Amino acid sequence: MDSVAMRRSITRMAHEILERNKGLDGVALVGIVTRGAHLADRLAGKLLEIEGTKVEVYHLDSRPYRDDVIGETTRRPLEGIAVSGKTVVMVDDVLYTGRTVRAALDALMATGRAKAVQLAALIDRGHRELPIRADFVGKNVPTAKDEKIAVHLTEVDGEDGVWIVSQ
Ligand code: 5GP
Ligand code: MG
Repeated sequence: MDSVAMRRSITRMAHEILERNKGLDGVALVGIVTRGAHLADRLAGKLLEIEGTKVEVYHLDSRPYRDDVIGETTRRPLEGIAVSGKTVVMVDDVLYTGRTVRAALDALMATGRAKAVQLAALIDRGHRELPIRADFVGKNVPTAKDEKIAVHLTEVDGEDGVWIVSQ
């Protein structure tokens, strides 16, 4: 996926988010750090361009909530995320086992009761280990378990692009 294809995918996902939610009333974006947060910012920019509406964007670090990382003591309540009663679109770069999203849901629930939660992923590479799916997908990329997807974003990596990398 080159920068043009990435931009088109993000544009399409923005339109799908609008279509699904009949606009942006009560919609908030929650990007999972690091690259999911930048993608959430880009989606918000695109939504502003299309609708003329500034959607709320939050950045969430779900690592303290991962089942394979914690340490109950490492959990800190997330500050500054106010999504009670809102339709949350969580955003991440790559969806794989689903464990990050599960942790992010846990973190989100700890901050309040969202009206609904939807999921946008730039890349779905398969191999889910939990019953989680994305509502909005940039591109489905079937991978082998020993492959990885390299996602480069200008904000972090100085360029936009997605590649399959065999290890
Ligand atoms: P999961 O928790 O679903 O197994 O993995 C998703 C999380 O790990 C995402 O936040 C994503 O950033 C990262 N991740 C998993 N697999 C890949 C991959 O192949 N490439 C990249 N760039 N990130 C991945
Ligand atoms: Mg990530």
